[in-house]
Amino acid sequence: MSATVQQESPELKLNRLLDSCHRNLKSVDDDLIRKAFQFSFAAHKDITRASGEPYFIHPLAVATILAEELRLDDISVAAALLHDVIEDTEYEYEFLKKEFGQTVANLVDGATKITDMFKSHEVTEAESFRKLMLFMIKDIRVILVKFADRLHNMRTLNYLPQAKQIKIATETLDIYAPLAHRFGLWQIKWEFEDLSFKYLNPESYEDIFRKVNTRREEREQYIQNFTDPISKRLTEAGFKFELSGRPKHFFSIYNKMVKRSKPFEEIYDLFAVRIILDTTQAYDCFTVYGIVSDIYFPVPVRFKDYISVPKHNGYQSIHTTVVGQDGKLVEVQIRTRKMHEIAEKGVAAHWSYKEAGESVVNKQSDEWISWVREIFEQADNADNPNQFIEDFKLNLFQDEIFVFTPKGDLKILPKGSTPVDFAYEIHTNVGNHCIGAKINGKIVPLNTRIENGNQVEIITSKNQKPNQDWEKFVVTHKAKSKIRAFLNEEKRKVTELGREMWDKKVRKLKLKFTDLELNKLIQDMKYSNQNSFFYAVGFGIVNHEEFLDRYVARQIAKKDQKPDEKPEFGTFEEFVKTSRSSQKSLVVEGKSANIQMNYAKCCNPVPGDDIIGYVTIGEGIKVHRRNCRNIAGYSTGDVTRLVEVDWPKGAHEDFMAGIRLSGEDRKGMVSDITNVISKTLNTNIRGLNFNTKDGIFDGSIIVYVNDVDHLVRIIDRIKRVEGVKSVARLEE
Ligand code: MN
Repeated sequence: MSATVQQESPELKLNRLLDSCHRNLKSVDDDLIRKAFQFSFAAHKDITRASGEPYFIHPLAVATILAEELRLDDISVAAALLHDVIEDTEYEYEFLKKEFGQTVANLVDGATKITDMFKSHEVTEAESFRKLMLFMIKDIRVILVKFADRLHNMRTLNYLPQAKQIKIATETLDIYAPLAHRFGLWQIKWEFEDLSFKYLNPESYEDIFRKVNTRREEREQYIQNFTDPISKRLTEAGFKFELSGRPKHFFSIYNKMVKRSKPFEEIYDLFAVRIILDTTQAYDCFTVYGIVSDIYFPVPVRFKDYISVPKHNGYQSIHTTVVGQDGKLVEVQIRTRKMHEIAEKGVAAHWSYKEAGESVVNKQSDEWISWVREIFEQADNADNPNQFIEDFKLNLFQDEIFVFTPKGDLKILPKGSTPVDFAYEIHTNVGNHCIGAKINGKIVPLNTRIENGNQVEIITSKNQKPNQDWEKFVVTHKAKSKIRAFLNEEKRKVTELGREMWDKKVRKLKLKFTDLELNKLIQDMKYSNQNSFFYAVGFGIVNHEEFLDRYVARQIAKKDQKPDEKPEFGTFEEFVKTSRSSQKSLVVEGKSANIQMNYAKCCNPVPGDDIIGYVTIGEGIKVHRRNCRNIAGYSTGDVTRLVEVDWPKGAHEDFMAGIRLSGEDRKGMVSDITNVISKTLNTNIRGLNFNTKDGIFDGSIIVYVNDVDHLVRIIDRIKRVEGVKSVARLEE
């Protein structure tokens, strides 16, 4: 095919593209397309692709995908023609804006900026994602152009060297496919998956490909026999429809074989048929369901009505499984033409419907946008880029559950959601003040995982407010970002209060500090900046009155020419002196102190963690991670026993740290994991514990690490082991 395309004259190619546009799009600005075509053709003139073809073949193919497969609009076709111009030629944004208008220029600019943004395992990632989100919010067509671009690159991946193929295919499978899923672009998602699969696991791909082909005829015959009576009855009933045996894509067959550990035949023999009705009436689908169940016996538990309750990404259809000839189970999907369009093309279909001015689909579009915005908001608050990326990926893969309010309203939440997630889904205020919850009438802890179909009632109290624990167990972006925002605001308020308390006392003592003097004092107190110091004052960790009184006394003493005393932290200093044995050098309130201390077992801090000390009776200082839930308990109670501690500089010793992980069980899994650990920076394993149930394992591993970075590297490495689904630091 490419040979003939190459030989075509540019005029012929242009006419062919214009033809596609006219056949598939609602309205076409011929001049715009022509101009973009000619410009791109000239701009890429001297470059060739890895295939040896002229580079222009690529933007043209991307434009054709947008016209024929996504059927978006002429603007995006023009943008597709130009999508590599900014990146690969000397022309800039301003120039495109002048020549093609702002919308086209913005699309090209957006597509250019996100070109390399999905690159995995880089710290700059969060920033990149943030930008991507921004562009998507501005104009969803940017991501659709990007999808088309990636699709053509994947389709022509065979020309690249193997290392590059693997890299691009991994990225496609990890990021582009789930993203396409989220945007409801099933068709593209499947192609992304199958093409990635082909390069990442060529043997399995070939094997399935071959088996599918050898059994094609037999399968088609079965489906023909199955659908004939349905066709007949539907025609009699006056329906216009399309009936097809739904082809399974290779990657999903493979996945099912692995997940259920079943041979190809058993997976492949699950037949599926789709009925697409040319009707605008959703209830016709139910009538057709009736007809089908009249012909074949339905399996009641397999009935799913996604028409009354659409999936989050807008998917609508009836799914039923019936018993076909020879007792084989056949899944039948029934939907209208429009539902089908949306199922296949997702956000792209919405885009074209939106242009037609339908308000119903606008609502779905809005939901997409708000979903993206939520992620974006969280990105803005994320202090750890890696964590953000993980959250982001996790959310792309999340399954959904249906949850009901006491009034019977339906909320759709990600699987694993807790009452707190649910509360935030209802309203920020409900979330911020939720103190308890009832699931199906029974009181449950706030961190309970809600099950599909549960009815949830939230109990609120004016005095309740979010705490750090919540942040750990909630799963929705909305809840996470709202809790974080609240905690930050709280911190700001406490800091503000501390500053006022300080100022008041300073005025009372008729003292005056320049900023420099103040900073010096704060440094002496071992706080890194004014904010953290005033926060400590506001929180009552620092007794500023006592401190200032002593400061005054010291000033007077100085005047009296007395030698310097060492005042500062009265009770604590005493404690340090009287503590029984010193074990390790810990930095307490900024000083290296030889006092008895040990690391709390509940949260297992390792160097690099943000830590805080708790002064125990008789056991010295227990060092916790600052976000340890045991410490969160103290912070509202006995704060006077909390002391600021830090890691000694240059301490090198082994710390124990735990890792929790789960995934699909397979042969050699444990040894693969332990191998990876011991090969990563010579890490020693202290112990491990694995449990397997229904093909899923979960386990924990205790390792010796030098610091947090070390631990993070190990976790990152384990994540890349095939079949491992989740890895996290083990916490109490
Ligand atoms: Mn490109």
